Amino acid sequence: MTLGSNVSDCALGVCSSIGGLDPQSARVLLDKLERERTLSFDEWVRLISSYQDEEVRAYAMERARAVRDERYGNKVFTRGLIEFTNYCKNDCLYCGIRAGNKKARRYRLSAEEILSCCEEGYELGFRTFVLQGGEDPYFTDERLCAIVVEIRTKFPECAITLSVGERSRKSYQRLFDAGVDRYLLRHETANQEHYALLHPCGMSLENRKRCLSDLREIGYQVGSGFMVGSPGQTAETLAEDMLFLADLKPHMVGIGPFVSHHDTCFAEHPNGSLELTLFMLACLRLMIPEVLLPATTALGTIDPLGREKGMDAGANVVMPNLSPVARRADYDLYDNKICTGEEAAECRFCLQRRMQIAGYEVVVDRGDSLVD
Ligand code: SAM
Repeated sequence: MTLGSNVSDCALGVCSSIGGLDPQSARVLLDKLERERTLSFDEWVRLISSYQDEEVRAYAMERARAVRDERYGNKVFTRGLIEFTNYCKNDCLYCGIRAGNKKARRYRLSAEEILSCCEEGYELGFRTFVLQGGEDPYFTDERLCAIVVEIRTKFPECAITLSVGERSRKSYQRLFDAGVDRYLLRHETANQEHYALLHPCGMSLENRKRCLSDLREIGYQVGSGFMVGSPGQTAETLAEDMLFLADLKPHMVGIGPFVSHHDTCFAEHPNGSLELTLFMLACLRLMIPEVLLPATTALGTIDPLGREKGMDAGANVVMPNLSPVARRADYDLYDNKICTGEEAAECRFCLQRRMQIAGYEVVVDRGDSLVD
């Protein structure tokens, strides 16, 4: 398939040469997805092309809530996010902390600062810490393993999640042996051409896939995912994403809208749509019923109630920010990112309140995925 095969209306963030379905036919496909947990490529393209129909979206979200409630009830898992470095050697074209953005104010937290974020998080009830950062060569295996061992020793019952991009299999093995349980690495897009449009020449979809398969083989609980409405995305590339994820069967899938950053070459590209993001969340819940599905910060950025709406589309994870407030704004992946000014406690209780109002109970255990 080639990109840009048609495209009549990109306004809501997805384009396809194939038309959508009428609501009744879309329902039939959604029922099939729930029953069989799989669709063909063509079926995916048709279904995804139908997302603009409100009735279709409402039905997908209703079924997704039912499927989630059956597995997880109204429980929402929390993970404490520590954005510990914004140095990055990569140049992903959509990202505000890409190496080529000379205006980014760079920072990295010391081991002591990371530990103190964990301590504060532990006091606040977090039992999962997610350490995320750019691909920062300063964090060699030695340095990262030493930090992981300290966290593991101080907080033996907590899950440790890393999200620091592409590394060698040997490195993933060392980090796993040091005590990391989970790893988040979005595949970003499962289509070669689309991948090449979003990334510089040195990066490849092939290596991304190699990383994900290494992580799974080593024994990590793995998270993958993609941005919704990224430049060049079509219903066809999204269909490929869904087929790829059906095959990978990750424990977690992180999806959120693409949000433009003023210092990238996609500064003028429209943000991904709320409606399509909610629809894709609902489809993911139907496809992998046990999956952990975060309502992301990016979703909360494009809509004031985005994360609550994410829950109504079948999500069941939120990730309040534990990073030091003084650094928050510098982890500047995209414009207008929310939650950059609040202390960890404020962030945690704000999300808890929001979830309670929306009818969900925030739980503080490790929240392991039910995916095998
Ligand atoms: N370096 C690690 C990696 O590559 O997985 C983790 C950090 S990376 C900044 C985390 C995620 O941010 C990426 O997987 C990407 O999907 C998301 N991201 C980056 N720029 C974004 C943008 N403009 N809009 C929405 N999400 C974005």
